[in-house]
Amino acid sequence: MHNDKSVLITGAAGFLGSHLCDRFIAEGYSKVIGMDNLITGDIRNIEHLFKLEQFEFYHHDVSNYVHVPGQLDYILHFASPASPIDYLKLPIQTMKVGSLGTHNLLGLAKAKKARMLIASTSEVYGDPLVHPQQEDYWGNVNPIGPRGVYDEAKRFQEALTMAYHNAHGLETRIVRIFNTYGPRMRVDDGRALPAFFSQALRGEDITVFGDGSQTRSFCYVDDLVEGIYRLLLSDYHLPVNIGNPDEITIKEFGEEILSLIPGTKSKLSFHPLPKDDPQKRRPDITRAKEVLGWEPKFDRKQGLAITLAYFRKAVLG
Ligand code: UDP
Repeated sequence: MHNDKSVLITGAAGFLGSHLCDRFIAEGYSKVIGMDNLITGDIRNIEHLFKLEQFEFYHHDVSNYVHVPGQLDYILHFASPASPIDYLKLPIQTMKVGSLGTHNLLGLAKAKKARMLIASTSEVYGDPLVHPQQEDYWGNVNPIGPRGVYDEAKRFQEALTMAYHNAHGLETRIVRIFNTYGPRMRVDDGRALPAFFSQALRGEDITVFGDGSQTRSFCYVDDLVEGIYRLLLSDYHLPVNIGNPDEITIKEFGEEILSLIPGTKSKLSFHPLPKDDPQKRRPDITRAKEVLGWEPKFDRKQGLAITLAYFRKAVLG
């Protein structure tokens, strides 16, 4: 399998970016350029690609002018701090990469006549008043709350991308990503899944925020990558939700993780709920099914088994 296409992936050393790099390499792209400033990414996620002739890495912050020589067919913008802990720590960088970074990359896409796909998020729906979330729901976001830096950067990113599409006829794609998990998640990114797995493996208590009645819907990374790949190659420019609609409360999720580690001394412990934590989240994936013929293939049991093997190594060595 080989094709003469070239792709630029920003956030390449991150959890999703690195899996995307692998996918484009596997699809036989003649050039896969990964870009990352490594503030939340980890170079070890793409180390295995450095020996490949078709892979190149640029250590660069896309909030500054982006220069890439030669032809580019596709740009996938996945650079951004993406866990609540990370964007609380890096609020300005989060806003810059979603706004200035997106602007730079749209300009690059325009100059190269490339197609640009942006990583948007279920966070554009905020703490949603509509359930499950369809793409035509406009959301309920607090612009000045702790999540505002991420949510509003991503909303601005969507608006700017649509503006380039409408004003310049640029080929654009917008994926709204719901909670995703799998190997290469950072152990200490503060998200529920890495926190719960590492706590259970170390025999520490599982830190459930609030009473754990809030819900999330977790998608295995391979399913997400498949949805993104299909969207990129489709001719559909409006936002598409990609996520797994199998919804679970965070308390049940904590119990599920405990049940996967027999003999653990851990138990659930309850802590204050962070401000503006969304109470419910589940994607309506009707559009992805209709437009892309996509739906998730991994259930949580399968996905968590693979992910647990990764965390065992990452946490216990
Ligand atoms: N959460 C939790 N304990 C933790 C980390 C997160 O109970 O140690 C909760 C968090 O409050 C949220 C849910 O788990 O309700 C998912 O959080 P995560 O940070 O994974 O992502 P979010 O979907 O909130 O962006």
